[in-house]
Amino acid sequence: MKLAGRVSQVSPSLTLAIAAKAKAMKAEGIDVCSFSAGEPDFPTPEHICAAAKQALDEGKTRYGPAAGEPQLRKAIAKKLQIHNNLDYQAENIIVTNGGKYSLYNFIQAFIETGDEVIIPAPYWLSYPEMVKLADGKPVIVNTWAENNYRITPEQLKQAITPQTKLFILNSPSNPTGTVYTPEEIRTLAKIIIDHDLWVVSDEIYENILYDDMKHLSIGAVSPEIFERTVTCNGFAKSYSMTGWRIGYAAAPVEIIKAMTKIQGHSTSNVCTFAQYGAIAALESSQACVKEMLAAFAQRREVIYQGIQGIPKLNCPKPDGAFYVFVDISATGLKSLEFCDRLLESQQVAAIPGIAFGADNCIRLSYATDMQTIKKGLERLDKFVNYLS
Ligand code: GLU
Repeated sequence: MKLAGRVSQVSPSLTLAIAAKAKAMKAEGIDVCSFSAGEPDFPTPEHICAAAKQALDEGKTRYGPAAGEPQLRKAIAKKLQIHNNLDYQAENIIVTNGGKYSLYNFIQAFIETGDEVIIPAPYWLSYPEMVKLADGKPVIVNTWAENNYRITPEQLKQAITPQTKLFILNSPSNPTGTVYTPEEIRTLAKIIIDHDLWVVSDEIYENILYDDMKHLSIGAVSPEIFERTVTCNGFAKSYSMTGWRIGYAAAPVEIIKAMTKIQGHSTSNVCTFAQYGAIAALESSQACVKEMLAAFAQRREVIYQGIQGIPKLNCPKPDGAFYVFVDISATGLKSLEFCDRLLESQQVAAIPGIAFGADNCIRLSYATDMQTIKKGLERLDKFVNYLS
């Protein structure tokens, strides 16, 4: 059998693979501490489940419009107007199968052979693979812990060529937890406009911000950048709805029409009754989002302090999202070997930094309960001490 060449261009998703392995080990009765997938451990809030159950009882079980239920598209547009200062209407919204498919679909609609896409590293592992699957060329720009993993204006300018079409911005960032300040976002926006590029802004972690950090949607900076921005987001992280697979993109109508065409031939509509849960998530009290954030904030303190206490490990304090990106260079191990041996010897699951373009680091997700965090840190400490 000869598979299509595009399959060999991409790697399997390590986040999903390691998370699945950790879950399988747990199911076998092994006491695993999993810091693998970025998946909040809270149940989806009851009122969101109730709305989906009601929709199911009301028979909302049929095909719906490929771009999403009109009521949900309207609710998303309203949320973006009020919370993000983005002047989108329902026609500017497409509901997708998770935030991931909003990015995949947009890249399919926008990128073709030879187009260059600038991606700051460390990056969420699916970005370069999505670009390759569209025959585009990912242009990786390395950023460093000393600069809190931010791309500088100079770095961005230097990476631009006549083939550059798109810049991928992810703030708060997976895997580093970096949050760009409003001033930095404005500077990036100006470069994007000056060089006639587009930006896709992955804002899936926008509600998971610590201390006094502020989220600015790049599309809200000016009318010029708004016209060349695609804003992607979803319900998984803010509302603990990972398995529901509901995300969205907001963009100029022409882009939404193109994405709807692709969706019509690929996934069709997102599960109809699930979309009613998403409507309830947006239209009800946001107290649940704040409660989960308070728990993440406590966990962040514990995991960050814990890492500082382990010799040879180091990480910047994350300003957002629920990951610490830990530098392991002083252990002398590369990230894959570190994670394999950690899982094997201490039953602690972590994601090797090589998946995110940084082989000197590992990613720990603290979207897990405090007991697991404390136990996992003890095991990690033991592992690193055993290495020395
Ligand atoms: N985005 C999450 C993560 O990075 C979920 C897994 C995935 O979709 O890659 O862990």
